[in-house]
Amino acid sequence: MTANLASQAGQPQLSIVIPVYNEADGLQALFDRLYPALDAVAIKYKLQYEVVFVNDGSKDRSAGMLATQVELRPDVTRAVLFQSNFGQHMAIMAGFEYARGQYIITLDADLQNPPEEIDALTHELLNGHDYVGTIRANRRDTFFRKFASRAMNGLRQKITHITMTDQGCMLRGYSRRIVDLVRQCNESNTFIPALGYTFASNPTEINVKHEERFAGESKYSLYQLIRLNFDLVTGFSVMPLQIFSILGMFLALAAGSLFIYLLVRRFLLGAEVEGVFTLFALTFFLIGVMLFGLGLVGEYIGRIYQQVRERPRYVVQTVLEKS
Ligand code: UDP
Ligand code: MG
Repeated sequence: MTANLASQAGQPQLSIVIPVYNEADGLQALFDRLYPALDAVAIKYKLQYEVVFVNDGSKDRSAGMLATQVELRPDVTRAVLFQSNFGQHMAIMAGFEYARGQYIITLDADLQNPPEEIDALTHELLNGHDYVGTIRANRRDTFFRKFASRAMNGLRQKITHITMTDQGCMLRGYSRRIVDLVRQCNESNTFIPALGYTFASNPTEINVKHEERFAGESKYSLYQLIRLNFDLVTGFSVMPLQIFSILGMFLALAAGSLFIYLLVRRFLLGAEVEGVFTLFALTFFLIGVMLFGLGLVGEYIGRIYQQVRERPRYVVQTVLEKS
């Protein structure tokens, strides 16, 4: 949808995009808070809104509940149903494709991002900021998640040009221009908040509340979290590869010096057999470093492979909307 069409009469100016994966237990609570919050925003800023839910192949009643919601509030609700599970970032990407507003706000379905904060984000977007980042005050997640997230934030800050205090919070506001650019990228694996930031010309950050998950458990397994963080690191920087080749150079230098030293000793002192365990330790360490390097190269190659196949990033089964 182009910017021109979106500004025509009857078109919403504000689109809320919400990915949903097996959230049946919490969806009603989300509806109960989301719509009143949005109705208030609509009156306060004199705008029309729409909510675009993307069902990411849920295996529970989520899709049915979204269908009912589209029937109840057809004026403001649409639902995009995926054929199977393609992941949160692809669900948001599809939401971007169907969103018609000039301003687009993404939100989690589990009520960890309070819908009442949409007001503050809208305020910043209307003030001309094309990207509204958020910082979760008092984050309500496990200690491990908070610790790992802080470490990843630090790493990303060092190896990319992206400056965000809290990259993981998915409650975020984007202008139409940024959403269109993000869609153009066509990346198979991506991290939307970081990608959006790279196009921002007037970004800002605000503090938002963070709540515990209303129902159910996190949909990210440890494996998926690791994969997501690899997407973030490899998708925005080749510095890990460069660091690795520099490390390789230094290790080769050190190994070469050790070789010369041992050769000299061999001639001066004759054959020696001590130090077998040191040799083991050194060998294991170097094998570890090599495997890590191989894996790192593999991460990039795997992404190139996925990209060159050019398979659809997600498959939409149905779009439920007012006919
Ligand atoms: N989600 C999704 N597809 C997935 C995993 C998650 O659409 O494969 C949605 C999920 O329903 C929720 C949001 O993404 O609305 C964030 O997921 P979750 O709360 O599990 O992540 P966490 O808060 O633990 O990072
Ligand atoms: Mg959550």
